[in-house]
Amino acid sequence: MSVFKFQAYDLVVCGAGPAGLMTAYTFAKMVGNSKKVLLLDKKEPWKEPIFCAEAVSTDRLSKLWPIDRSWVRGDISGIYFTSRKRYRAEFYSKNCGMILDRPKFHHSIADGCLNVGAECHFDTVVKKLSRNADGSWNLEVQPKGGEGETICAKAVVDATGPGSRLTRGIECLEGIESGDTDLEPAIFAVAEGIEHSREHIELFFGSEFPDGYGWIFPRDGVEVNIGFVLGKNVNREGTLRQRLLDFIAKDYPQAKVKAVYGGMIACGQSTRPMAMCGLFKAGDAASCMNPISRSGIVEALLCGTIVARSVNEWLDAKSESERECVERSVLDRWMKALGKSHLQLQRAKAGFNSITDEQFDRAAEKLSKLPREKQTLFRIFFTVLRTCPSLIWKMRSFIC
Ligand SMILES: Cc1cc2nc3c(=O)[nH]c(=O)nc-3n(C[C@H](O)[C@H](O)[C@H](O)COP(=O)(O)OP(=O)(O)OC[C@H]3O[C@@H](n4cnc5c(N)ncnc54)[C@H](O)[C@@H]3O)c2cc1C
Repeated sequence: MSVFKFQAYDLVVCGAGPAGLMTAYTFAKMVGNSKKVLLLDKKEPWKEPIFCAEAVSTDRLSKLWPIDRSWVRGDISGIYFTSRKRYRAEFYSKNCGMILDRPKFHHSIADGCLNVGAECHFDTVVKKLSRNADGSWNLEVQPKGGEGETICAKAVVDATGPGSRLTRGIECLEGIESGDTDLEPAIFAVAEGIEHSREHIELFFGSEFPDGYGWIFPRDGVEVNIGFVLGKNVNREGTLRQRLLDFIAKDYPQAKVKAVYGGMIACGQSTRPMAMCGLFKAGDAASCMNPISRSGIVEALLCGTIVARSVNEWLDAKSESERECVERSVLDRWMKALGKSHLQLQRAKAGFNSITDEQFDRAAEKLSKLPREKQTLFRIFFTVLRTCPSLIWKMRSFIC
């Protein structure tokens, strides 16, 4: 007997990360009982740790989902920008960000999905997609411990995260965004014994972390999340894990590493289509992350809202040409919301990456001598630029 309520759905959303959860929630809330939506994830997302440093902007998150303190680990009021010689510039802004407990946060949106009528199945992997002659999609799915089944959908959202494989090799989707633009390796440890301000995140720049940065994010006052992301073309001598353990041992010899996690970050905005033939991409599967900060949670939520509205219009469209028009509009809407600024940041990235240790040290030393209230983001940015005049030319597309 099938575990699903129906054999055919208007929309099936694959992946219940922030992008998939928000797509399913927004869509189900918008359509009420008039259309059927199914949300699937291969894991039960709140039962396992999520490979993430869990930091978000409070202001941006609160515009997308009501804040509930039960899934907030703590509030952030500042960022330390730390150079190779460990000079620290401090940007301070009361409660500018928060550290989430992501499993609990995901759970709260999943509860929201159920409340607005979305059917949800976790521990159910989507194994294969194929298109039928009438334009609908077949999904081969495998619930954990159950029988494999095939379900049908008029529209599908791929929100399966970076490097998503689900849509590869499907002829009618050739050219669609594949969530692998600028895939960068990231690794972090959850560790104890590292003294760190609970209300600051710390970012480390310089040649230790080529084309990326290191970080310490507080968790609960006892544990921290310490890790780094590197550029995709960086020569990775030794394993990432060893590199991380060496960084911790050198700077924090008293630290006790409790667990190490790694993942890929798809952090390059592309201009490839985000929808074709009734298949829509959302979140990391659509390379929607910020290319420099590498944040992707709020971006995935926002993308989910755009995709949900577009899918609804697509389902209501009266002709093939109207449907194609909606598909093309997804990228335009994303570009208007965030994609354009991501493209600018992407162009500026090479400039950032070319700043030398000496230039970072000089800028951070200078800034560290200023009173905290004078260390605005603007001043930090231009002090770094001034120590490295050639950067102004390299970053012209960002500034102009
Ligand atoms: C080490 C690291 C640190 C990070 N730190 C931050 C941070 O501090 N702040 C921030 O904003 N962003 C951070 N990010 C980025 C952030 O985690 C992602 O941008 C965000 O999770 C993207 O959401 P998503 O829904 O698109 O994809 P995901 O969160 O990856 O969700 C995809 C979901 O799809 C499911 N899935 C995959 N394949 C299938 C399948 N075949 N069938 C069914 N389900 C499937 C997965 O189980 C998963 O639940 C970090 C990323 C990494 C790797």
